Amino acid sequence: MRLSRYFLPVLKETPSEAQIASHRLMLRAGMIKQASAGIYSWLPLGFRVLRNIERIVHEEQVRAGHIPMLMPTLQAADLWRESGRYDDYGEEMLRIRDRHGRDMLYGPTNEELITDIFRAHVASYRDLPLTLYHIQWKFRDEIRPRFGVMRGREFYMKDGYTFDLSREDAIHAYNRHFVSYLRTYERMGLQAIPMRADSGPIGGDDTHEFLVLADTGESEVFYDSAVTDIRMGERSTDYDSPADCKAVVDEFTALYARTDETHDAAVFAKVPEARRRKGRGIEVGQIFYFGTKYSEPMGAVVTDHDGNRVPVHMGSHGIGVSRLVGAIIEASHDEAGIIWPEGVTPFPVGLVNLRPGDGATDAACGHIYEALAAEGLEPLYDDTEERAGAKFATQDLIGLPWRITVGPRGIAQGKVELTSRRTGESEEMSTEAAVARIVEIYAPHRPRHAP
Ligand code: ATP
Ligand code: MG
Repeated sequence: MRLSRYFLPVLKETPSEAQIASHRLMLRAGMIKQASAGIYSWLPLGFRVLRNIERIVHEEQVRAGHIPMLMPTLQAADLWRESGRYDDYGEEMLRIRDRHGRDMLYGPTNEELITDIFRAHVASYRDLPLTLYHIQWKFRDEIRPRFGVMRGREFYMKDGYTFDLSREDAIHAYNRHFVSYLRTYERMGLQAIPMRADSGPIGGDDTHEFLVLADTGESEVFYDSAVTDIRMGERSTDYDSPADCKAVVDEFTALYARTDETHDAAVFAKVPEARRRKGRGIEVGQIFYFGTKYSEPMGAVVTDHDGNRVPVHMGSHGIGVSRLVGAIIEASHDEAGIIWPEGVTPFPVGLVNLRPGDGATDAACGHIYEALAAEGLEPLYDDTEERAGAKFATQDLIGLPWRITVGPRGIAQGKVELTSRRTGESEEMSTEAAVARIVEIYAPHRPRHAP
């Protein structure tokens, strides 16, 4: 993409309404524009990041054997009356009446809708286990929308729903989600720590939240510092093996890690003092097992092995896709701007032409551009007439992890400069070497399983 033809409305001034770094940087980097309180337009650069996060979520869900689909944003109130949540949900639910006087709502979540789909089409244990998920916009009329996309009113969420015959099977589905979430966040360059949480209005027995540690996080967290040393990594956990998935969950939950809602000072006191940490975190996902809470009142039943009709055991599992954009920035930025992890960066590399109009420089840039595009790694090509300093400042602000700088002096010696946004270190090399290095860096970040 040529910057001269792109739409990247960066701001010079720091917007005064933004209280935290990620919100400020998303506005300054031209990623979002507020449409109304807690509702945002995603400008091209922000949209690219949102799509990358969404793609990783899809890939890891499909890898875990979960089935993508799409449910609508607007739902009929009657379904929510069946579960009893139409009245329970309160002011956070945006209620709408259509022209025929029917009560509708903008879905804050989808348990009712998915249960209705399930009961219409599934009648036997033979069709279980089943996990269906979608990634769709939600609306919650938050009393205090703030911090940009972190606490929006309209936000993008992955929500998955598991249906199983027994509690035991449902716990396997829960553990499978646990593992898939760890993999998902790690691919985004994030560490999200699973913490025992409180079940809240959805209700249930088992629930964990995944939190990214950040001073600006809204949740208070208490943890054993040793949990920050555990990684999922590339271990070969088999999603079909309950023992495999449970082993991962056991490892990650053996150490103390809880939000303030479930914090227990007496248990925490048993953590060696030097490892006791209190801090703040951003909730980027949550998994729930809630048994037959919806299947019973809504009649989602199947026949079991003995021919009895029994309500299915359910769970729901969410990832805050749009919140993740902010959370990643909170975890990865500096004074100059954003520092994107390779997994989610809007462009893999910035290509900066220091002398547009100079034949040799333009030719070298064109060559690098084509070579990278042929590898599926299209750069953001700064071909504008700006000064070098301004170009570098924009690159630093928008946070592409790598920059290739091309100027007449270097080209005369067959050299370009490759710079790491994270370390600031630069290295001179041939155009071929720079292309090869970028290809190598992105090899582990290629798209994997199509949704
Ligand atoms: P919170 O406690 O932050 O209000 P929640 O527990 O009500 O969130 P869930 O129902 O667990 O949210 O939704 C799943 C995920 O969706 C959350 O983990 C979070 O990442 C994201 N999310 C929830 N509310 C918002 C919001 N208002 N804006 C952006 N993302 C949100
Ligand atoms: Mg939650």
